Order: sequence, then structure tokens, then C-alpha cells
Amino acid sequence: MPPISDSRKRILVTGGAGFLGSHLIDRLLDQGHEVICVDNLFSSTKRNIDHLHANPRFEFMRHDVCFPLYVEVDEIYNLACPASPIHYQHDPIQTLKTSVHGAINMLGLAKRLKCPILQASTSEVYGDPVIHPQTEDYWGNVNPIGPRSCYDEGKRAAETLFFDYHRQHALPVKVARIFNTYGPRMHRQDGRVVSNFIVQALLGQPITIYGDGSQTRSFCYVDDLLDGLMRLMVSPPDVTGPINIGNTREYTILQLAEMIVEITGSRSEIVRLPIPQDDPRQRQPDITKAREVLGWEPTVPAQQGLERTVVYFREFLGAEIAAA
Ligand code: NAD
Ligand code: UDP
Repeated sequence: MPPISDSRKRILVTGGAGFLGSHLIDRLLDQGHEVICVDNLFSSTKRNIDHLHANPRFEFMRHDVCFPLYVEVDEIYNLACPASPIHYQHDPIQTLKTSVHGAINMLGLAKRLKCPILQASTSEVYGDPVIHPQTEDYWGNVNPIGPRSCYDEGKRAAETLFFDYHRQHALPVKVARIFNTYGPRMHRQDGRVVSNFIVQALLGQPITIYGDGSQTRSFCYVDDLLDGLMRLMVSPPDVTGPINIGNTREYTILQLAEMIVEITGSRSEIVRLPIPQDDPRQRQPDITKAREVLGWEPTVPAQQGLERTVVYFREFLGAEIAAA
């Protein structure tokens, strides 16, 4: 199908009501595109997209990507999948179905439309990595039967499907391996470390470090991440990925907790809880490929990104903070 116009495209974003999806839609609408947001609201609420309903170029469809979808679009961003351990472990079979059946359905749609499709894959495909930092040619160290497997193996199977559709049907695919990303509109109760610590700090609750806090993550601010994803989508057809998108600055979880206590001016104490099974020890992307192929690298330092996220949660929690 030819694009609706040279510049204006109709773009499908699955998982569009979620944290990353809703920001992506803001950006695509700002560029003048039409956007269809498909989401079953499994791990989000309509609040993230409330501000968009008045826009005539925006359309919301409540739909589960495990079922076929018939729409006419020029590009597909496939983001549908619960992303936080609490959400993806809540119904692990549904998580795996979302990754696998969802990928099959969205790839089938892209095949009919002959349109580019981008997969939001994850650093979790590297599991608990023994190569550090992680390069795209590392095959990973993933437990296939643990509590994280529904997510990790689901995303790995989705990558397999993307590359099989590419080889078998010459489908233009784009696979981004996203590393821990944070920012405004994270779900306050999804259990991810940045939102957990900020909410705990603002409400004066204990800050819960799992294990001794020496495990590391590299945190990317949402705006940087979206720049990377959008560059990947418009890259030449031979650029399929997989390509790491993330911030290379690595922090221990204890360092993160201390930064957030300082930024919020909180009096919360830091407490230690047992480390969850299969929690990766360290994680840092090698983004040489993204630099070379996409001309992309993150620009927002953690201090700045965390300050912006704290501003969001202060407003979101409002009266709760005053009452705490
Ligand atoms: P999120 O949970 O906020 O958003 C995911 C969205 O997908 C939610 O709105 C949810 O309701 C929707 N969804 C889930 N199952 C669905 C289904 N079967 N059908 C339709 N919609 C469904 O998470 P996020 O952080 O915005 O993540 C978006 C994507 O990016 C996910 O695929 C995630 O795996 C990937 N990713 C995110 C990160 C990160 O740090 N945020 C890191 C790596 C990968
Ligand atoms: N974590 C923590 N306290 C929390 C939430 C998470 O110490 O309240 C740790 C968690 O054990 C992991 C890291 O923070 O080592 C990142 O966790 P998150 O769930 O955000 O992402 P993922 O493990 O999927 O990278």
C-alpha cells in the first residue's frame, strides 16, 4: 500500500497506552502522522493517552495482539508486552502468548501490507550476561524455565520470528534491544526500580534494595530511547538490527537509591530485601552499532532524567505526598 502522503504516514503502535508507547505516539503525532494505538490495557491505563483523544489523527483500539488485527497502515511499532517483572510474572502464559502470538499476528499484518515493522526487544535476551558490556553478537545466558523466562524467552522467540519473516518473506524488519528505560508515565506500581525508589522516596517509605545493591543496570531516559527507536524505523531497509539502544553509564542499584534520596530530599531509610531469582548481576549496552549505523547516542544524564521523573511523580502523587 502506498503511503497516505509523502510525509504523513498512518502508523500502528501496539502497546501504545504504555509508558514507552504513549511517549512514542506523542512524538509521531507531533511529526504530523496519523496513529492507531492498539492496547488491551493489561499493564497500563488510559490515563497515559487521555490527552490524545481530542486529536483527530489519533485513534485508540482496545485489542489484544494475541488475536489477528486488520488495519491499513504504513509502519508498525510492536511494543505490546508487559515489561516489568511484576506485570510479566502476573500471568506468565499470557506474557509468552503476547510475545509469540502477538509477533506472529503483527508480522502477518506487516507481510500483507509490505510495511516496515519494529520490534521492541530487550536486553533480557542476554539474560544474566557473562559478556560485559553486551554486544549484539552475544547469544545470552538465559534460564529457559525460571520466573523471568516467560518474558526473556518470549522476546527471544519473537526475535526469531522477526528474522524468519525477514529471510522467508523479505519483510523489512527492525529489532531494537532496549535496555532499562525510565521517565514520566512509568506505572507507579509496576515494581521497576526507578519508579519504585522514586515513589518510596516521595512518600517517605523505606527504599527497598533487593540483595546487597551491588547489581548494576544502565538507565536510559525515555526521550533518548525514542530518538533511537525512531531513527531505527527510518533507517535503510538493510538495517534490520538487532541493535542495542540504551545508556552506557552503569550504576549499582545502591548508587541509584542514593541519587534518588538526594534528588527528592527524602528521609526514607534504605532497607534490604531478598534478591529475586535469576536477577541479572550486571548490565550495560555496547552501543557502537547504534552510534555507527544510526548516528545515535543518549544525551540525557541520569541526574537530569531522574529530576524530570521526580517532577512527574510529585505531581502524580499530589495529595498522597502531603498526607505521607
Ligand atoms: P508498559 O507495560 O508500560 O507498556 C506495555 C503496553 O503493552 C501496556 O500498555 C500493556 O497494556 C500493553 N499490552 C500488554 N499485553 C498486550 C496484549 N496482549 N495486547 C495489546 N496490548 C498489550 O511497558 P513499557 O516499558 O512501555 O514497554 C514497552 C515495550 O518495550 C515492551 O514490549 C517491553 O518489553 C519493551 N522494553 C521496555 C523496556 C523498558 O525499560 N521500559 C526495556 C526493554 C524492553
Ligand atoms: N530492584 C531493587 N528494588 C526494587 C526494585 C528493583 O533493588 O524495589 C532491583 C532488581 O532486583 C534489579 C534492578 O533493581 O536488580 C532492576 O530491576 P527492574 O525490575 O527495574 O528491571 P530488570 O531487573 O528487569 O532490569
